[in-house]
Amino acid sequence: MGFTLPGRNARGRAVRLDGVLEQVLSAHDYPAPITHLLSEALVLGALMGGLLKGEQSQMTMQAQTNGGTVSLLVCDYRGGALRGYCDFDAERLAGLGANPSLAALFGEGYLAITFETEGRQRYQGIVPLEGNSLAEACQVYFSQSEQIPTLIRVASRAGAGGRSAAGLLVQHLADGEEGRERLHVRMDHPDWEHVAVMAGSISHDELLDPSLSLEAIAWRLFHEEDEVRVQSGAALSRGCRCSAEHYATIIARFPPEEQQAMRNEKGIVVVDCAFCSRLFELAV
Ligand SMILES: [Zn+2]
Repeated sequence: MGFTLPGRNARGRAVRLDGVLEQVLSAHDYPAPITHLLSEALVLGALMGGLLKGEQSQMTMQAQTNGGTVSLLVCDYRGGALRGYCDFDAERLAGLGANPSLAALFGEGYLAITFETEGRQRYQGIVPLEGNSLAEACQVYFSQSEQIPTLIRVASRAGAGGRSAAGLLVQHLADGEEGRERLHVRMDHPDWEHVAVMAGSISHDELLDPSLSLEAIAWRLFHEEDEVRVQSGAALSRGCRCSAEHYATIIARFPPEEQQAMRNEKGIVVVDCAFCSRLFELAV
């Protein structure tokens, strides 16, 4: 769900992942800390992807380290379709306990966020993977790379009915947003300070409460505003673009000798989709 607060020059996104989350997670057999991490990443993917216009626009989020317990976390979004996976050292992870910090998981890492619009314009920002959570690192991305004051809250929990996760993002769109480059991020604009305090008061319980609709959350936080405009967002799904045809097309672009090097002793090229944990055996 999208919303705007015209009187404060602010906009927001709210998402709740239930079935989609289970579908993405079911492709993997991850231990709890990694499931939690990927759930948070998927909520962030849906929140940030929800800022894009156009069905073919894509947001990719990649957290990467050298020598961390988690070496790579990838999540992307296109037209409501979400997918993600995580590479990690299971043995080292087991030594970190049940609730490892972001620093313990990644060590010194960085977060790369890439927005590709339908016109094939590509914008990438890279920030250090710091703070207590992926959500905090994404806030830093928006303030450093896009100069947009942003507050993000993400909640994820395993319950009797499976895992659920939800999140809220609010941003301040300064005056002269369109067509003028802004030189400073003003984190102390009175309108932004107010919106950030209100949005920041949301609790994990409220975000995850299935009896509280996303509209009700926006209303609860901002009912004192003159106007809250709500727009429904794209329907979310688990989506991957892997297929035998897709890989065959890619392989066909390589020179014949390189294609030959890809084949195994049976003449088959085996391709692995990390998002789906699925192997494709291609007789190309
Ligand atoms: Zn796939």
